[in-house]
Amino acid sequence: QNSINFNLTLSAYLVSDCYIQVAIPVPIRQLFTYTLPISLQSPTIKVGERVLVPFGNRQVIGIVIDISQQSEFSADKVKPVLNRLHDSFHLSKDLVTFLQLCSHYYHHPVGDVFQQALPVLLRQTEKTDLRPPMLWHAKQAIDEQAQQIKRDKLSKAPKQLALLTLIEKHQGISWAELRTLGYSKAQLNALVTKELIEEKQQVLQLFNWQSSMFNQDNKLVLSPEQAVVVSAINQSQAQFACHLIEGVTGSGKTEVYLQVMEQTLARSKQVLVIVPEIGLTPQTLIRFEQRFNVPICLHHSGLNDSERLDTWLNAQQGNAAIVIGTRSAVFAPLHQLGLIIIDEEHDSSLKQQDSFRYHGRDIAILRARQLNIPIVLGSATPSLETLQNALSGKYHYHQLKNRAGKSKAAKIALIDNNQQQMEYGLSGSLKQEISRTIERGEQVLLFLNRRGYAPAINCQECHWIADCQRCNKPYTLHQKQQLLICHHCGSQKRIPPQCPSCGSVRIAPLGQGTEQLESRLEELFPETSIVRIDRDSTRKKGELAKLLQEVNDKKHQILVGTQMLAKGHHFPDVTLVAILDVDGALFSFDFRASEHMAQLLVQVAGRSGRASKPGKVLVQSNFVDHPLLQDLVHNGYQHFARQALTERKQALLPPFSFQALIRAEANYPSYPEKFLRSLTEHSFEQCELAGPVPAAMEKKAGKYRYHLIIQAKSRKYLHQAVLSILTLALQNDLHKKVRWSVDIDPIDL
Ligand code: ADP
Ligand code: ZN
Ligand code: ZN
Repeated sequence: QNSINFNLTLSAYLVSDCYIQVAIPVPIRQLFTYTLPISLQSPTIKVGERVLVPFGNRQVIGIVIDISQQSEFSADKVKPVLNRLHDSFHLSKDLVTFLQLCSHYYHHPVGDVFQQALPVLLRQTEKTDLRPPMLWHAKQAIDEQAQQIKRDKLSKAPKQLALLTLIEKHQGISWAELRTLGYSKAQLNALVTKELIEEKQQVLQLFNWQSSMFNQDNKLVLSPEQAVVVSAINQSQAQFACHLIEGVTGSGKTEVYLQVMEQTLARSKQVLVIVPEIGLTPQTLIRFEQRFNVPICLHHSGLNDSERLDTWLNAQQGNAAIVIGTRSAVFAPLHQLGLIIIDEEHDSSLKQQDSFRYHGRDIAILRARQLNIPIVLGSATPSLETLQNALSGKYHYHQLKNRAGKSKAAKIALIDNNQQQMEYGLSGSLKQEISRTIERGEQVLLFLNRRGYAPAINCQECHWIADCQRCNKPYTLHQKQQLLICHHCGSQKRIPPQCPSCGSVRIAPLGQGTEQLESRLEELFPETSIVRIDRDSTRKKGELAKLLQEVNDKKHQILVGTQMLAKGHHFPDVTLVAILDVDGALFSFDFRASEHMAQLLVQVAGRSGRASKPGKVLVQSNFVDHPLLQDLVHNGYQHFARQALTERKQALLPPFSFQALIRAEANYPSYPEKFLRSLTEHSFEQCELAGPVPAAMEKKAGKYRYHLIIQAKSRKYLHQAVLSILTLALQNDLHKKVRWSVDIDPIDL
């Protein structure tokens, strides 16, 4: 080993005319210089290639960012590259530029940006299997008779038949996609046993656009409103333009996307569709599947590492025509990208909430601008940032004010809890409405944004509450698992048999979560099938798709769920939606809380009455006179949002100013405070500072957390201030004792 290294160093020393700048996965805001030994100089090295380099006493994979003949360092001071890796996995030049732009915009270490943009398997130094994926194919039948015999075998298994039909439609389809669509391994294995399908390694090749087919048969005749939007967007398909479609839920935004995409695909360009975390519903995928006979690749949290790599490869090699994914799909290396669509652009899951805190929508716009292609943002409840850009003319602004097809918008009504007999968090009127809806053979959706059985347990004698010591917040009771779980740090604890403070055994749950609501409803409606859809009940792969399918098959009459249910799902037979608890958001210190609450409420309400049956939305509150609720219910989101923008403007809050948040945390409360305070001793041109203040979660997982906010009227000044702060922070003695980070355009404070 030593002698090899010695030889490499020697050869690098001899040939000192090739220096490369490498992005390395370390939290340092700079590139690192290496020499390229002569033994590695052929074939010519390119920007975007992966290289193995020594860093400290480790070996890491870095990305080549720049190549030059000169360096400020002399060759003997610079270490040589150890090896170059598989050439076919290099990043394109424009992706490299894009990632550098991101690093610059977010002031995030460049190496870490590259690290996060690459699939895990491409960042590992160990040898990994990088072969193309295995795909499922239908076996060819010898003749028609044989084909018929095969089908007859499936006459009693409609799911297997549907699966076979789907596989036949494709020239190879991955298990990841079948699973996302809700099929099981058992169904797949049954077809294997019957010798109807087989697995083959994918042949990566440029997708042949000529042979692509669009299914015109399920294409809808656009409403006049939709037609206007489609033609407006299609007019500028060959250049950068940012479009906002503000369309009420059920107004047919997806149909607009589909018809715009058709144009892009017809020009042999690829399409990137970004959807919220859980919003990647099988239903969305099915609609894309049914419209386009083109290879579609997925990128979401339900995939494993090698499946993610497959999507990456398919995008890069031009084998995928459409990539559908969650926020990090914005880094997919599509080389013929012609259009980006961001569905539910207001959704906060588009923002990454740790380490590299990028906003998927914002950098997608950056990418569209860089590639000079259009980007379409869609939402029923646009974020105030986007809405302001649309109203000011920066974006093209399109509205869909009516529901498409026959469905009618649901009426929202408030229920005053103070005027009602409450039982298990349900008011008398609501219980009545639930019964009536079930009797009509329709479905009910109950929304409660709190998973678990109860958000706390307490002692009924001395009022002791079981707190997580690492977060100073109550533990959530998970009854089925018989555990207390902290939803902030994930720590778990047994339920104490008696109060540690007074010894009483009268320990009881406090408040209500979805798990409890589900079991209460089982008591209240014993004849009715109830299904709970939240993070706990859908942990298993494919479980969400399965539950959603059961709902659509009308196996359940009542759905209980958290915000997972608010995201773009279609429930044609849900005609009653009830929101059990909105009060928390009405009195928050976070200036964005009301915006988020309004979005959530309108989105949940939008799940109702999506087919031809009229829907009803009931909102329970203890504060029905609150102006925010009144405005939303009587005037709708559009009015609310414009009102909220006026208020933000008066208060000079975003989007009328720009913010950066410096977060600091440490094991001692005084460190982060002192560290941030030292930064406030300086003044920054045209900027205001607020803080340091304790974070909303002052303690989390044992760390004390403080915030400092920088606010400026223009991005330029904000950018300058952050640059100075980075320099000052590094000079501070405490900077190694606290963990600190920069969050540009923060959305949670
Ligand atoms: P959104 O995404 O705006 O919530 P969708 O695109 O999901 O709305 O459309 C809602 C429903 O209206 C879907 O069932 C869709 O099939 C139907 N729909 C959309 N456009 C049309 C149209 N032009 N004619 C008839 N039905 C339509
Ligand atoms: Zn007690
Ligand atoms: Zn905790």
